[in-house]
Amino acid sequence: VTARAVSRKAKRGRVLSFIREKEETSRGEIAREFSLDKKAVSVMVDELLSERILAVNGFRDSGSNPVRGRRREVLAINGAHSAYIGIDLGATHITGVLSDLAGTVLERAYFEVRPGLPVDLILDQMKTISARLLSREKDTGGVRAVGVCVPGFVHPRAGVSLVAENIPGWRDVRVREIFQKEVGRPVALEDASRAFATAERWLGTCRGLRDFIALDLGYGIGMGMYAGGTLHTGSAWKSGEIGHTVVDPEGLHCACGNNGCLETVASGRAIARQASDGIRAGRSALLHDLTHGNAESVTAQDVALAASMKDPFSTGLLEAAGSAVGLALANAVNLLNPSVVVLGGGLVSAGRPLINALASSLARCTMPGIREDMRLTVSELGGDSSARGMAQIAAEDVFAGE
Ligand SMILES: [Zn+2]
Repeated sequence: VTARAVSRKAKRGRVLSFIREKEETSRGEIAREFSLDKKAVSVMVDELLSERILAVNGFRDSGSNPVRGRRREVLAINGAHSAYIGIDLGATHITGVLSDLAGTVLERAYFEVRPGLPVDLILDQMKTISARLLSREKDTGGVRAVGVCVPGFVHPRAGVSLVAENIPGWRDVRVREIFQKEVGRPVALEDASRAFATAERWLGTCRGLRDFIALDLGYGIGMGMYAGGTLHTGSAWKSGEIGHTVVDPEGLHCACGNNGCLETVASGRAIARQASDGIRAGRSALLHDLTHGNAESVTAQDVALAASMKDPFSTGLLEAAGSAVGLALANAVNLLNPSVVVLGGGLVSAGRPLINALASSLARCTMPGIREDMRLTVSELGGDSSARGMAQIAAEDVFAGE
């Protein structure tokens, strides 16, 4: 392979990313963005059109000189070109999507996971989901790759999920090897919060933004971020552990081995634990009734329900959790100066007390001069955002490797 072929491929990859990010573009816009001459753009665009990776999405009057009646093509990614599967493993769910090259979801699959389920059974359920999605391949341009995201530490290059504290026994799981055997095509692996950030960047409210934070509030708390237009991974793919920033040095022991991490106060798991203690201490008659007195079975969703019914204990728990998250987030915002913080994950639907407390402690603790330029927003992608982002990452890997 010659150096010229490598640089041509890299350029194609960058142009494709640009088009995905813009949703729609034109030859002129590509030429300006990449400082290419008309001829070079034509060659590349014609090639992408003939491979059916790009499609012409109608024509629009040229803004520069409408009198001459020149119409420019609107170029967009051709979704029908190929399809990708994204599978998101969480502590309480497995979510899968089959999506096309443009990121449109063609099929979904979902399993609830009981915390503490054996690793082999979790893997079996993930395989069942991928098989179910793969069975829809005939309706697509062909499934080219599968992406799997997991919480905790991952080694994407090796395809190994190193450890997920919130999934007991989950250690050094050779995700790529296991799923490649299963599906017979390339398998990508990433951290679930980074997959969420990717979904926001390509498909959600952060489309095209260069610097933003995507906070994943669920059973655990993770963060994905884009810095300068690039997904930030850290030196060994371990960035974004906001859930293990210390908010109370004298606090409870955390699964990571430290004390007083944000996750010990504000994660879905922590909220459930505090609720369970509260039920046993007789602090909430409503939660007691909602769980039929079975304190062990209480979940963060039960707390959210009780709070929506004005239970003071449950409202207090969610407010304390929201304040702690806002504090940790403000520290991250002061460090990173994002233009947007987008919230996602199961706890976001836990309602106003948590989000309001989060927003006010975030505003209070972020530096003046930084907070004015930052917008706090809630993801509109819903529960399958990480799976969708993972399908996009799998697609990117395919095109980067071609
Ligand atoms: Zn920790």
